[in-house]
Amino acid sequence: MSAEAGYSTTITINKGHSRTTAGLCALFLGGIGLHKFYLGKPIQGLFYVFFCWTFIPAFIALFEGIRYLMMSDAEFQSRLEQDKLDHIGGTFSVSGITPDTHVKCPDCRGFVPKEAKVCQHCNCKLVPQ
Ligand SMILES: [Zn+2]
Repeated sequence: MSAEAGYSTTITINKGHSRTTAGLCALFLGGIGLHKFYLGKPIQGLFYVFFCWTFIPAFIALFEGIRYLMMSDAEFQSRLEQDKLDHIGGTFSVSGITPDTHVKCPDCRGFVPKEAKVCQHCNCKLVPQ
């Protein structure tokens, strides 16, 4: 699997998730972790369920919901990608993204190939290093 293949796979995994849906889930049913289940993090979601009686998850979810709704789509997607990478193994190399081949976009913090001139997430111009 080439670096490019791994990269596009990561993007595709996250395409189905709507930022608005995740935000609304967090605001209204975040106390039971609905947004976590929606975003494919059932383990985190279960913590919300277990501790919902303390109202702490609802409080955290309220902030998460507001944050989801405030951030740009590009930022939201790149956050999901980052979470996925952390989840998979904690290293970039698992999905073909390594510090040698990719840099972080200063705008949306998504990973872009080093030689790219434009970020494929937020379309901002990148300064070659
Ligand atoms: Zn970007």
